[in-house]
Amino acid sequence: MQGLMMDMPLLISDLIKHADRNHGDTEIVSKTVEGSIHRYTYHDAHARARRLANALQALGVKNSDRVGTLAWNGYRHYELYYAVSGIGGVINTLNPRLFPEQITYISNHAENTALFFELTFVPLVEKLAPLLKAVKHFVLMTDRAHMPAATAIPNLQCYEDLVAQQDDRFEWPSFDERTAAALCYTSGTTGNPKGVLFSHRSTVIHALAAAMPDTLNLSARDSILPVVPMFHANAWSLPYACTMVGAKMVFPGPHLDGKSVYDLIEQEKVTLSAGVPTVWLMLLQHLSSNKLKFSTLKRTVIGGSACPPAMIRAFQDDYGVGVFHAWGMTEMSPLGTVGSLKAKQAALGKEERYAIQAKQGRGIFGVEMKIVDEEGKELPWDGKRFGNLLVKGPWITSAYLKGEGGDPLINGWFPTGDVATIDADGYLQITDRSKDVIKSGGEWISSIDLENIAVAHPAIQEAAVIGIAHPKWDERPIVVAIKKAGQEVSKAALLKFYEGKVAKWSMPEDVVFVTELPHTATGKLSKLTLRQQMKDYKLP
Ligand code: ADP
Repeated sequence: MQGLMMDMPLLISDLIKHADRNHGDTEIVSKTVEGSIHRYTYHDAHARARRLANALQALGVKNSDRVGTLAWNGYRHYELYYAVSGIGGVINTLNPRLFPEQITYISNHAENTALFFELTFVPLVEKLAPLLKAVKHFVLMTDRAHMPAATAIPNLQCYEDLVAQQDDRFEWPSFDERTAAALCYTSGTTGNPKGVLFSHRSTVIHALAAAMPDTLNLSARDSILPVVPMFHANAWSLPYACTMVGAKMVFPGPHLDGKSVYDLIEQEKVTLSAGVPTVWLMLLQHLSSNKLKFSTLKRTVIGGSACPPAMIRAFQDDYGVGVFHAWGMTEMSPLGTVGSLKAKQAALGKEERYAIQAKQGRGIFGVEMKIVDEEGKELPWDGKRFGNLLVKGPWITSAYLKGEGGDPLINGWFPTGDVATIDADGYLQITDRSKDVIKSGGEWISSIDLENIAVAHPAIQEAAVIGIAHPKWDERPIVVAIKKAGQEVSKAALLKFYEGKVAKWSMPEDVVFVTELPHTATGKLSKLTLRQQMKDYKLP
């Protein structure tokens, strides 16, 4: 017997229709590339998304056509999210921080037929345009007044002109919810980047899960600032999930330094923000050196790489901002686990609660997890045994675009490439990416654990731990660290700081002080680059 409920597809256009109807006067605020503040409402955004939908169709964008973007978090990018997917096209959010050759590779692989980009990227697109084989339309996301007088970009069109020329009468089409909606490439630390293709269905149910109280706890009373870029795993679903719940959205544009983010949080009464640890480092530094406090910020989501316990402490103890430590990956849309407490844990002492929060969190309904040993045998959830982490669920990748890299699944499970433990309460703790874990004398040493200790030292700003080849032990860990401005600590003192905090055999062998650490295009420590930079280093 079949159920007798209406069979309605889950479509991205329904999110903005809902927000317009129910939260029409709620604001979307953007700091623009030009530095001004743009302000409008869900009602206005929906009207402009419909005009843009007409404009896209006038350009010849059809079902399943890919449309590339090189853009910051802002209202025009938001309109593209809805207009491109809404007409049945696929938005390919390109990460402008990648090398130009990688951007070219991705855009050609995706076969983007149009490219929408912001003023910041005019010089880049001038260089790339002749190489972007499939792109028929180059559209600059600005108004007539900011269009360059002369440019090498062929037939450059103006976004505001395209929108202005169209009517806002447009009926969002209905189609199969499994239709592709958005395309995001993984950073591809080895080999070429691979395309992760999200569907309308996966996007809408992932947004529902993201909004839940123990996930990101989003509501119509929130003012939400995604610092995480819209080109990094769809800003962790915030452009969809905020629209679903009717939260005010605040977009920072390219202005991600501590002062700009702080000022925007204060001006727009932001209650929740989300980003990778590196941006929070800049924000916390700005706060402490200027003796500032937050007046409205209540919660922050930190993920993308491990959030050091020292950062959780700084946010919660010094600024009264609750931390949600989250783990996920582009292949998971990206949310997998979030570290909210259970009732029995909320009653624990502070140190015990903080220890739970330092883990990456528990699985959201919709994400199944298991850890396995080298032979693929499942390991117990005891918080001690660590193994390769596999996941499955309705918003997790089953294959990459064009079958790149072959079938990624192992008996229906997606291997994350992470090594982790899971405890009896279901809390995941990432030991390391499997390629970063340090193998020493038959034991595995977590680089994340050693990094967390280094940054807990009052004189350390940022630290990366890598394994260095050793004739007897295979590999030994060393700390590569940046000191805080005006602070001093010796190698010996930092090594001493590890005593009593880790087992003898996992003590770092040496400390190297540097003034800069390499980061990936998504703002994470790039161990790959660091290992290359340290290739001539010799253990003492
Ligand atoms: P990439 O950075 O390679 O573009 P993703 O942004 O999808 O790709 O990164 C996913 C990976 O980031 C995960 O597999 C994991 O190794 C790491 N990661 C994400 N969140 C966390 C976290 N909270 N703690 C530790 N590692 C994390």
